[in-house]
Amino acid sequence: MNFPSSMIIGGEAVAAVGGGTYESINPADESVICSLPAGGVEDANAAVTAARKAFDEGDWPTMAPSRRGRVLRKLADLVRKHRDELAQLETLDVGKTAFDSGKIEIPTVANILDYYAGFADKVTGDTLPSEAGVLRMTLREPIGVVAAITPWNFPLLLATWKIAPALACGNTMVLKPAKISSLTSLRFAELALEAGLPAGVLNVVTGSGAVIGEALVNHPDVDKIAFTGSTAVGIGIQQKAAGTTKRVTLELGGKSPNVIFEDADLKQALRGAMTGIFYNKGEVCAAGSRLLVQRSIYDDVCEQLATMAAKFVPGDPSSARMGPVASKAQYDSVLNWIEKGKAEGARCISGGEAHHVESGKGYYIQPTVFADVDNAMSIAQEEIFGPVLAVIPFDDEADAIAIANDSPYGLAAAIWTRDVGRALRFVRKVKAGTVWVNAYNLYDPSLPFGGYKASGFGRELGEAALDSYTELKSAWINLG
Ligand code: NAP
Ligand code: MG
Repeated sequence: MNFPSSMIIGGEAVAAVGGGTYESINPADESVICSLPAGGVEDANAAVTAARKAFDEGDWPTMAPSRRGRVLRKLADLVRKHRDELAQLETLDVGKTAFDSGKIEIPTVANILDYYAGFADKVTGDTLPSEAGVLRMTLREPIGVVAAITPWNFPLLLATWKIAPALACGNTMVLKPAKISSLTSLRFAELALEAGLPAGVLNVVTGSGAVIGEALVNHPDVDKIAFTGSTAVGIGIQQKAAGTTKRVTLELGGKSPNVIFEDADLKQALRGAMTGIFYNKGEVCAAGSRLLVQRSIYDDVCEQLATMAAKFVPGDPSSARMGPVASKAQYDSVLNWIEKGKAEGARCISGGEAHHVESGKGYYIQPTVFADVDNAMSIAQEEIFGPVLAVIPFDDEADAIAIANDSPYGLAAAIWTRDVGRALRFVRKVKAGTVWVNAYNLYDPSLPFGGYKASGFGRELGEAALDSYTELKSAWINLG
């Protein structure tokens, strides 16, 4: 297998100016996958210069919009053609299962590209009702150079959430993927060139976020930062960007409530609880990490959760139901949270430790369920970002909604009930950007996604994302 080894700047495959490299690690066995350029400030600056030139002098923003759509559609087809290769890179890089990479994520990348390819020639302004002698209208224009900074949990998928709408609208970009998961972004940028994307329109710089990310946030020629990652880094970005009046959108962390009422279809709800927390090893911003269960069924649900969780035996992601967590740092952090849960007095009813495979290598953690969690405990308030579930009892609907909203975050929420009135009251009252009813972790390119409260602001996906990548210009024309 060929591994990407260069950054893509101005359409060229390049090494870091300073010559540095770093190793990309496979979390399944701690082996080195390959070396990647450790870019620095000079590389970030070169990428911004290339993107600026492509925007100011190139034809990407000004070409017939349908042509932009054709390039994005061609790229979608190339992603489908290279699905197995991209999926394998993703699985090696962050330990997600072969099924998740190959059957869900990479196909979804292609679908999102197709979805926004369709918008390329449908981003319109309005002609407004105007009296005789005057014409008032609005125009939608690309913002300019967009710097996308992305996390490691869904590397190519979350990059595409930004790239597809930004390019459809005619922007140019610099992508800074997470350091530990840059392989698919680099390969994707090569495929974009093959699809006919002009040089400089999509640049990818690899290396440390504290260096490159920061250089992009401070750079005067970057017009917008589109960030997905932790709340702490997001806040820092917003503070720094304020000095340059850059546009900023932030997709941040979550601690999403998944609420089961006594009248729910329990079999479905339990399955939803499992995928809500163990899908992608719990490394999901919208993970259903707080399971709220009505007291009348609480003991029964806890018993069944313990049995079901034990079946998510972690192992080699090419065949297991759950892979390793993505990195050593994440492994240490999640194990630390598990110890904290025990120390806080929560009752561990499943897992609760590292999982050892035969080789003795790899960052495996047992699927862990804590019962009798009080919502005030730190394991209920803070994002763990791993396969650790906190199960919290509640008495009635008012209690459930109060606990659901008692969180700094507001990314997603779900309710399991057969009572349609109760479901709709929950949809209205819960402070979260996405609400599922009798479902969990379902996404569609047409459905906007984003946060309330500390989960960030701005919306990705759907038509709503076009607002994040365009400026609205008003024109007043006196007709004489
Ligand atoms: P992170 O540590 O905040 O990193 C995110 C990105 O920011 C990485 O590319 C990182 O680069 C870069 N970065 C780090 N320090 C920076 C700085 N000072 N200035 C600019 N960029 C900087 O988050 P993560 O650990 O990768 O991802 C997990 C977090 O993302 C979780 O909180 C999760 O909830 C959130 N998330 C949110 C969503 C959503 O849609 N709301 C989706 C997925 C994940 P390095 O990799 O080099 O450090
Ligand atoms: Mg890796």
